[in-house]
Amino acid sequence: MTDSDTQSDLDELYQDIIIEHNQNPQNYGDIPNATHDAEGFNPFCGDNIKVYLLVNGDEITDIKFSGSGCAISQASASMMTDQLKNMSLEEAKEVFQEFHAMITNDTGVIEESPILGDLQSLAGVSAYPARIKCAVLGWHTLNSAIEKEKGTIVIDSYF
Ligand code: ZN
Repeated sequence: MTDSDTQSDLDELYQDIIIEHNQNPQNYGDIPNATHDAEGFNPFCGDNIKVYLLVNGDEITDIKFSGSGCAISQASASMMTDQLKNMSLEEAKEVFQEFHAMITNDTGVIEESPILGDLQSLAGVSAYPARIKCAVLGWHTLNSAIEKEKGTIVIDSYF
């Protein structure tokens, strides 16, 4: 097996994870007694995401999302909720920073990052600047919910 075979196997595996999360989104729905919620929109692709949080003290005891849009936007939000559930807000911020570093890194080098879990499957998106907005939409919406900003956040840049 050559290196390029390994790379394409890896790409296929990552694509499978993204497709799986898009078809069977985790933590999909709303939280009626949410302590935080926000709505996000990516006009470049037409993706919508709503994020709901139940925060108890400093811990995210429940997190859900709903929305519609491309596979990247929905899969990223699904993986995000999976990863952040039962984390503290401080830990969630660390995951967000790692994810941001990965998604804006165009070196093509994928470094193992245990705190990202399935989110690592989105590393390849960094090569497609237009799709980065899709991948970060759920995260911006999450931030907006945590900061208790009013209104819908609209993605107009990566950050
Ligand atoms: Zn999109």
